[in-house]
Amino acid sequence: MERSLAVLTSGGDAPGMNAAVRAVVRRALDCGFKVYGIYNGYEGLVSGGEAIRPLGWNDVGGILPRGGTFLGTARSERFRTLEGRRQAVRHLVTLGVDALVVIGGDGSLMGAHVLAEEWPSHVEALEKEGLLGELGKVPPSLDVVGLPGSIDNDLYGTDMSIGVDTALNHIVRAIDDLTSTAASHQRTFVVETMGRHCGYLALMGALGGGASWVLVPEEELDLRWHHKMIRAIEKARAIGRPHQMVVVAEGARHPDGLPIRTEELKKILADRLGIDVRVTVLGHVQRGGAPSAFDRILATRLGVAAVDALVQAGDRPLRHMIGLQKNRIHMTLLMEVVEKSQAVGQQIDQGAYREAQRLRGESFVRTLELFKTLTRIEPAAAMQGNGPVAILTGGADAPGMNTAVSIAARCLMNEGFPVVGVRDAFWGLIRGEFMMLEWNELTSWVNRPSSELGTVRHSLTEEDVQRVAETIEKHNIRGLIAIGGLGTYMNVTTLMHHMPELKALAIPMVLVPATIDNNLPGTEFTIGGDTALNNIVQDLDKIRHTAGATKRTFVVEVMGRQSGYLALMAALASGAEKAYLPEKGITLAELNEDVAVLRASFQCGKRMVLYLRNENASKHYTTDFIARLLEEESRGFYQVRTAILGHLQRGGVPSAFDRILASRMGSAAAQQMSTMLRQDQKEVLALGQKGGDLEVTPLQQVMEEMDVREGRPKRQWFLELSAMAETLAKHAPACSVA
Ligand code: ATP
Repeated sequence: MERSLAVLTSGGDAPGMNAAVRAVVRRALDCGFKVYGIYNGYEGLVSGGEAIRPLGWNDVGGILPRGGTFLGTARSERFRTLEGRRQAVRHLVTLGVDALVVIGGDGSLMGAHVLAEEWPSHVEALEKEGLLGELGKVPPSLDVVGLPGSIDNDLYGTDMSIGVDTALNHIVRAIDDLTSTAASHQRTFVVETMGRHCGYLALMGALGGGASWVLVPEEELDLRWHHKMIRAIEKARAIGRPHQMVVVAEGARHPDGLPIRTEELKKILADRLGIDVRVTVLGHVQRGGAPSAFDRILATRLGVAAVDALVQAGDRPLRHMIGLQKNRIHMTLLMEVVEKSQAVGQQIDQGAYREAQRLRGESFVRTLELFKTLTRIEPAAAMQGNGPVAILTGGADAPGMNTAVSIAARCLMNEGFPVVGVRDAFWGLIRGEFMMLEWNELTSWVNRPSSELGTVRHSLTEEDVQRVAETIEKHNIRGLIAIGGLGTYMNVTTLMHHMPELKALAIPMVLVPATIDNNLPGTEFTIGGDTALNNIVQDLDKIRHTAGATKRTFVVEVMGRQSGYLALMAALASGAEKAYLPEKGITLAELNEDVAVLRASFQCGKRMVLYLRNENASKHYTTDFIARLLEEESRGFYQVRTAILGHLQRGGVPSAFDRILASRMGSAAAQQMSTMLRQDQKEVLALGQKGGDLEVTPLQQVMEEMDVREGRPKRQWFLELSAMAETLAKHAPACSVA
């Protein structure tokens, strides 16, 4: 029997909700469900009629770049009543719906749980009242699946909720903008972010924006908290940075539980420091705009997983939220999600801050610690030993490299280790060209694009290695932190192999993965990848806007070297119909099939089709070749255009995700270096983020994960998303073409 599914968005809107609805609708149609969209959340479900409409494949076309939710959202008092929910059940039963997907916050998920629990009793009552008429078979139960949609990131059971990443990007960019005006006027700004019970946005925004102080609801403030804040600002000003940012979550509170008001903060700072202070409340700007690449991909993965869970559940009742934990799909009972999410607020109310933080998760606690460390640190007077630690950024530049350098260098200086920057990567190391790193300069590097140290692609020769050893000896370099891509990994591997005969090379080294290509071993994400992805997706959105009266195919070439990460993830986030990846190559048979699919796509109503091609997907089937082939076969039915995005992809300020990743990795690199120097260890270590955790692995071991000949890791987690990208972007399957 054909199953019917309904989907709604509820509570506050969040960017990415449209991507989730699209994924749910198309996956469900593919799995044979009849699909209904419920407009205006539970309010629409209670109202019925026009508020519940069938959704087809094309109804969710072109909505990926749109902010908010096209289904509309609402808070419904009627749904909170038994009578209201009975109406809701009546409408669902009448349409034969036995599965409901709800995208929203904890309140919305609670509503879904209550509805599923009460379903049999409502059905019985409606039957008794004769309100179900001659319906035939009534679904005996309702399966409900929740998806986390809330910009606050306050939901238990998922590391990230839909909308959070976009909101964070708004926040860091707002802090960037305010910083430039603050610097011009030597002002201090108090910036308020959303988050009534949750300090996630404030904390991550403060870290990514390079703020000097943060106030979050989950932290217990002692009675003298303003003195501490004033001291930190005073110290930062004394070091030479006259403009400061203080970030406060709207739910931050005094030790007695009363809210901390921004105007109050302004008065404290102005009175105590005699400085010019301005307040900016970011407000609803944080919710708005086109969703980030991350949010679109997260929402798509969760939406597909929701339908898959419904299909796989069989007769088992489903009352779960689908979340992402450690970069893997994870199901948690709705009731557990609601109870544990709400418990944080209760713990804060009761003053149990430690418990509140524990419920927020390890990553929140570690980031809070990292931020506190950054506010405490200052260049230490006592120097540990006399030789410096050298930091370089190698290969091609990647957004976020400066953030990593800034954090690593300041953490080391705080411990009294002298630090120097190497100019132009290994090139500078060969020639002994260094750059003094100034504390204040470093502070302002957090949000700078590209690499201030400079990067050069250069593979070390035997002769170079000898000269690097001489530089290290001459300048008494005690350790090396190398931030870069595959070339940097290969160069450090070369140095490591020469350590036995060239004693000067035997110093501790730490590698930090930074490349837009995401082609490194030992890590699921590399610094720079997220910014590049957002750059690509924004460009693809613009290309889509050019859709006019003429049917058009765009073949867009993206970077990635031998890794299809950027092409595939950009396809997933932009709804591109095809991604040619180096992992799969391109065959003539495939191109032949693509020609047929393309024609069918236009016949089925598409006006614009996007094909993405990784720069190395094939040696001979180039972007130009594919475009000409498609044009030739179009017989005038559609036009073909190409776009090579080139270096636009690696430009611009780093995204929030990249800044946070770079901050964590920069601090971890400093910590590893400091430990090795103190314990006189001379290991070569590589950092990575796997399943959400930072990992440290000997370089030798990490390189075993690498397929050096192919230029990418042997296993790439993202490839499993490739079928998803294609099936969601295809033309309506119901459309039959002659
Ligand atoms: P946000 O995080 O943006 O606040 P939310 O989903 O938590 O999103 P709420 O206003 O708490 O937003 O809930 C949305 C809707 O869910 C409510 O208007 C109400 O219709 C329904 N709802 C919430 N709690 C319950 C409940 N206990 N029983 C039935 N329905 C509920």
